[in-house]
Amino acid sequence: MRLADLRGRPIRDLRMSVTDRCNFRCVYCMPKQVFGAEYPFLKREELLTFEEIHRLARIFVTLGVEKIRLTGGEPLIRREVESLVELLAQIPGIDLTMTTNGSLLPQKAESLREAGLKRISVSLDSLDDDVFAVMNGVDHTVERVLEGIEAAHAAGFMPIKINMVIKRGLNDGSILPMASYFRNSGHILRFIEYMDVGGTNGWRFDEVVPASEIVAVVDRKYPLEAIEPNYHGEVARRYRYKDGAGEIGVIASVTQAFCADCTRARLSANGSLYTCLFATRGTDLRQYLRNDTSDDEIEAIISSIWSQRNDRYSEIRSPETARVSKVEMSYIGG
Ligand code: SAM
Ligand code: SF4
Ligand code: SF4
Repeated sequence: MRLADLRGRPIRDLRMSVTDRCNFRCVYCMPKQVFGAEYPFLKREELLTFEEIHRLARIFVTLGVEKIRLTGGEPLIRREVESLVELLAQIPGIDLTMTTNGSLLPQKAESLREAGLKRISVSLDSLDDDVFAVMNGVDHTVERVLEGIEAAHAAGFMPIKINMVIKRGLNDGSILPMASYFRNSGHILRFIEYMDVGGTNGWRFDEVVPASEIVAVVDRKYPLEAIEPNYHGEVARRYRYKDGAGEIGVIASVTQAFCADCTRARLSANGSLYTCLFATRGTDLRQYLRNDTSDDEIEAIISSIWSQRNDRYSEIRSPETARVSKVEMSYIGG
């Protein structure tokens, strides 16, 4: 059985977390009060090896996956992640991308490009150091991330997507400065609604700035017009500046759910498969990699899990569901 046949929502996009650790402590993802020195991060021996990740990636591609995103935690703190990129880049026909906080890009952008990474997204929540320090929890400077973006640009990544999560009362005042900065840069700024991922960020609905409000703020200063998605099921809604200064995207996971088109699977760094970002449980695939199960058998196991999928969390979100225990985004991969 091929996943393309299953429930009208084939599997197309695989997000692989390569580590659950991070050098940031973003308030909306890994608040430092929870993710301190005592936090039970995965141990090195629990992580999938690069060979195991490569093997699973090939099986997923057989099942219809066209795009693989390396994420985490912070993918650039996984030792020698460039070697993994090099292995995955050899799989024919996949769009290989990465999401990173950008802090290590100044030294890694070129080697990632040489290893075969095709595209990169960099997260940046403000251009104001004080606001950014509150958002990232550990005083990382804006300058370092901007240097990372520059290094990625110089290495040949273009356009770069810049992901900005908006939390009301914290960085909503940074929407316009970020729009001004990235207009005419060729990069694509994407505003992301603050989500109730995991169980540690203390999410409240009144801290979500709806995408419609974000678009209105930008449009008042820099008139926008909506444009067509690049492909069916694209998560970001696209807008272009009417004066030709480029485009932005908004990801309205909270106020305009898009579960019906969701074709994303997620694999944690220790090899568990999750069919939804808001899942409470995953399926351990690492056991099969380590007990002589054949590729065909693993393919059938994944098909069976996917065929039973009925996830639509964002369509049924409520204050009650927000309190249900969910897997952390840093573990499952953003
Ligand atoms: N560390 C990398 C980074 O920050 O880009 C990759 C992992 S991070 C979990 C992936 C993406 O998820 C980032 O763009 C981040 O801003 C976003 N994210 C994390 N927590 C979020 C939340 N509560 N709501 C919306 N987006 C979130
Ligand atoms: Fe780290 Fe990315 Fe989560 Fe921020 S959003 S804490 S950079 S994994
Ligand atoms: Fe996909 Fe789950 Fe997000 Fe819906 S809530 S779009 S099913 S990951």
